[in-house]
Amino acid sequence: MPITAAFDLHAHVTEHTLAPLDFLAGYLTNPHGDQAATSHRAFKAAQDIFEGRLDPRCAAVFFPMLTLGNDRTDEDPLRTLHAYAKSHVDKGSVYDVSIFNAQQFLDVEKLGQVVLVYGNGDDEVAERLADELAERLWASRDRLVGTYPSLDPCLDRIEAEDLTLVLGDQGDRVAGGGPGDSTFILNRLMERNFGKPAILPIYAPEEVEKCKAAGEGAEIELTFGGRYSTASPPVTARGRVVAVGSDTPVIYDGPSDGGTKTYLESWAVFQFGEIRILLTSQPYSYIDPAYFRSVGVDPKAMKLIVVRSGYHYSLNFASVGECITIDTPGITSYDIGRLPWNTARPFYPIDKIDFAPRRYLRSPQARTHERW
Ligand SMILES: [Zn+2]
Repeated sequence: MPITAAFDLHAHVTEHTLAPLDFLAGYLTNPHGDQAATSHRAFKAAQDIFEGRLDPRCAAVFFPMLTLGNDRTDEDPLRTLHAYAKSHVDKGSVYDVSIFNAQQFLDVEKLGQVVLVYGNGDDEVAERLADELAERLWASRDRLVGTYPSLDPCLDRIEAEDLTLVLGDQGDRVAGGGPGDSTFILNRLMERNFGKPAILPIYAPEEVEKCKAAGEGAEIELTFGGRYSTASPPVTARGRVVAVGSDTPVIYDGPSDGGTKTYLESWAVFQFGEIRILLTSQPYSYIDPAYFRSVGVDPKAMKLIVVRSGYHYSLNFASVGECITIDTPGITSYDIGRLPWNTARPFYPIDKIDFAPRRYLRSPQARTHERW
């Protein structure tokens, strides 16, 4: 029975992951827009093996390096690399290619980049292409480190022009492990007396309960945010409880994960001036405008929307406004040299090491050997 799987492009993949699998497909897009297509590749491979059309020959190259910010697949350098890989798949010289850019906050052994190529009955062509793609990825190593714009010029633009900006809080990305309660952007808005319609989400379970106890329409003083994130202190404000709710459905507009249904567990919208705070009992990434619409806030009526995501929101918010991920402090900022690494190092770019790839070839017998 063939065993195939589909993984996120940020997966931590090792020889140990590959040995039991006849085939593994990774997302080819970041921001992720091909979740369903990746599952389809994995299913089709199982079907092709089962029906005798595919004899998968796996060639993987691993090397200790991280991408840090300039790693969207719709921009260079990864765009060109993926296009080159795709040209080989399209012409049939190999069956499938995945390039895994590991999630950057994993202090684990063998952390790094993975190029994974499957030949169809041909080891050599898969090996050659895996080596070539790995060398190209390594050659781009310094271009894969990005820098992000800062907050104030974005706020200046909103105040000067009639536009909507959707700002990704790079330092507090919930899917990256951020707590979702950073007040860094909010404190700056308050210092500036920001007066345009804005919505910001804050993970604040106790304050949701206070809003619910006070009831919709009540005027109360709240102190919230900055409990888990140490980037900026909590905020105290007097305002109005606009709306409260529980188990509210959110159905993503997409295109990323379009149609996905999730729920906001317990929440309140608290407003002072033009600033609306979406207080929630759980942290969320807010990768889709539906999160705000579901609590009664029309995203298109806002001039500033803050989300706790660095990439994925930008596909789904493109119809609402200009999406900019900004340089903010916090545990998910790419300033990873400050982290107390114990296991994963050395890796580039923190350690200026030489290219030292590990190669893995999985013979058709490998699975049997691994298991028995
Ligand atoms: Zn991912």
